[in-house]
Amino acid sequence: MSNLIARLTNPNIATLAPYESARRLYAGGQDWLNANESPYANPYQLDDTKLNRYPACQPVSVVEQYAAYAGVMPQNVLVTRGADEGIELLIRAFCRPGRSSIMICPPTYGMYAISAETCDVSVIKVPQHSDFSLDVDSICQQAGDVSLVFICSPNNPTGTQVAKEDIIRVLEHCADKALVVVDEAYIEFAFSDNWASALQRYPHLVILRTLSKAFALAGLRCGFTLASDAIIQTLLKVIAPYPIPEPVAQIAAQALGEDPIARMREQVDIIETERQRLTDALSAMDEVTLVGAQKANFILFRTPAKDALMRDLVDNGLLIRDQSKQLNLQQCLRISVGTPEQNTRLLSLMRDFFTRGETA
Ligand SMILES: *Cc1c(COP(=O)(O)O)cnc(C)c1O
Repeated sequence: MSNLIARLTNPNIATLAPYESARRLYAGGQDWLNANESPYANPYQLDDTKLNRYPACQPVSVVEQYAAYAGVMPQNVLVTRGADEGIELLIRAFCRPGRSSIMICPPTYGMYAISAETCDVSVIKVPQHSDFSLDVDSICQQAGDVSLVFICSPNNPTGTQVAKEDIIRVLEHCADKALVVVDEAYIEFAFSDNWASALQRYPHLVILRTLSKAFALAGLRCGFTLASDAIIQTLLKVIAPYPIPEPVAQIAAQALGEDPIARMREQVDIIETERQRLTDALSAMDEVTLVGAQKANFILFRTPAKDALMRDLVDNGLLIRDQSKQLNLQQCLRISVGTPEQNTRLLSLMRDFFTRGETA
């Protein structure tokens, strides 16, 4: 039997490993500062009188409210099972297995490459410069070979924002070559223009958004793809018939109301204040070098003792994320901003750790 399974498994799947979340590996912890989630859990209501019916494929009030929030037309919005599903739908709709490629700019979010691999689509990597700016010349040189160019801004895990001129150059160069996907999962934390207003101008621009980060709904699994009507219509051909469960639609619709959006902005303000406090405290530590920038709800830093520090924090039930396997991020760890209490606890654990002077 196992021979049969091995023989039938797609070769591009065979080498992959099932996703293992850090939460599963360190189940004993209490403070999760590893997945860029919001520390706030907000209350919602559930109407259970419709659960016997299949949900709408694209719940109208969610689409309309998100369109209003993002400043686009409803026909330019697709609701998905998290932004991650948007990534996969783009690859399934616009890349041919065994033939097409996507482009990514590491160090960056891991799901672009993972989704491509599961679809037997190859990944062309154009590393960022050492200051984490895009290598626009190399991107343009290779853009003719790919169907999709993924740009993450603010970028996970470097917290850097891509310069507007760089995205414009990529967009103009790719106009008749590839779709340019700008992942704005952290846009609410960055004080700058987002790209939604440029959709009219660039019909090959795609924007990814999510309720998982600033909206504090990672457990909901709800994201959005913003794009031209033609792209949205194509994605609707590959999305499942009922991708958004009724409870998800109900809660997303509530989260996009006026008061919950105001609440989200207040929580973002607190997270940004805390991010600054953490940034100041970490940069005052001799053993820590901040890496990248802090335009999202996390902080990336390098420390020679990263393994020992990580172990010490885990022993104290506090989990952060190891990013050291990413290109040019040797010895780097990423902290998601938590509640003020969690951040204070993290800082005091780190100070104690460095005072003891352990090394890797
Ligand atoms: C968290 C994250 C996502 C995925 O968001 P979901 O909506 O939870 O699937 C997408 N892109 C980036 C860069 C992220 O950090």
